Amino acid sequence: MSEDFYDILGVSPDASTDEIKQAYRKKATEYHPDVSDDPDAEEKFKKIQKAKQVLTDEDKRQAYDRMGHDRYEQAEKHGFDASDGGAGGMGGMGGDPFGGMGGGNVGGGLGDLFEQVFGGGGRGRRRPQKGRNLRTGLEITLEDAYEGTERQFTIERPEECDVCGGEGYPPSADATTCPECHGRGQVTQVQQTPLGRVQQTTTCRRCQGEGTLYSETCGECRGEGYVRREVTLTVEVPAGIQGGQTLRMEGEGAPSPDGGPRGDLLIDVSIEEHDEFEREGDDLRYRLPISFPQAVFGDTVEVPTLDGELEFEIPAGTQSGETFRLEGEGMPRLRGRGHGDLFVQVQIVTPEKLNDEQREALESFAEAGGDEIEVKEGFFEKIKRAF
Ligand SMILES: [Zn+2]
Ligand SMILES: [Zn+2]
Repeated sequence: MSEDFYDILGVSPDASTDEIKQAYRKKATEYHPDVSDDPDAEEKFKKIQKAKQVLTDEDKRQAYDRMGHDRYEQAEKHGFDASDGGAGGMGGMGGDPFGGMGGGNVGGGLGDLFEQVFGGGGRGRRRPQKGRNLRTGLEITLEDAYEGTERQFTIERPEECDVCGGEGYPPSADATTCPECHGRGQVTQVQQTPLGRVQQTTTCRRCQGEGTLYSETCGECRGEGYVRREVTLTVEVPAGIQGGQTLRMEGEGAPSPDGGPRGDLLIDVSIEEHDEFEREGDDLRYRLPISFPQAVFGDTVEVPTLDGELEFEIPAGTQSGETFRLEGEGMPRLRGRGHGDLFVQVQIVTPEKLNDEQREALESFAEAGGDEIEVKEGFFEKIKRAF
């Protein structure tokens, strides 16, 4: 990652403030430490926030452009405030990366409040809203979770209406200025807040922020501007994912109502139960049935792993229920290197059928050990009678 703020956000040096904010939201979502797999996510996230803070403040940005990256950083370290103090310096406090992403007019929260109080950011223009996030589920096998996989799936989601091009009205419709907001698309209300009286500007409900009303609505989408349609997507499922975790596909959610970026698609992952393995975090548990002689004398057997069979030495004198740890044979760790362990729990299986030879051998085994078994009433006798 280059240190240059424009490079960090992936925008060109002549990008508009809106473009920078949009790029910031995208990057911030990508590198948010709660959702990113990147081990350096936290540091990158901080750099992204810093870059946005400087580049969306007109004064700071001018200073940055004039001085270049290194000199700017140097100057700032020595207490120079590029915004020459005042309210402009508060711009960075609106740094909630998810502000305004929730869709609808309630998004934004404190960030927007600061912008309204201190006049930062918007400069009277409404920033485009991000579309709604959508949610779906995806069930994968334990093998998929072990290897990591790519999965195709189909969802139904709102897509721009072809008939009206997303406008919600046909080209023939007559336009009139919205009487509610007088074409501004916004209405202003005075609100009591913890910071005193604040003028809150909200989207006009009558025209939904368009500023214009139309004489006809599109028949295809009933004026919505979008219709529900099936789309097939492919998601990358990282190795080591756990059931209950959520993957985020950026920009695959609902379209924005006003030309902003699409929302995201959240995918709740669940994992099918496995026939052989039980998962506990990154560890796997496997029950290995062995015979009594194997437990007594020890043996070499094949144990399954999610990566093929493995030779396993049963030590002589193994007890039923004893557990052995095969290091590194469990699930891969999602955000790090290496694997969890495979715990093999041995279970001695008591035979339900014996042939005569086996029965005699076991009877002599019992006798030799000095055990007095009342054979007539005993277990083996019962078994014999059953045949
Ligand atoms: Zn339409
Ligand atoms: Zn209006």
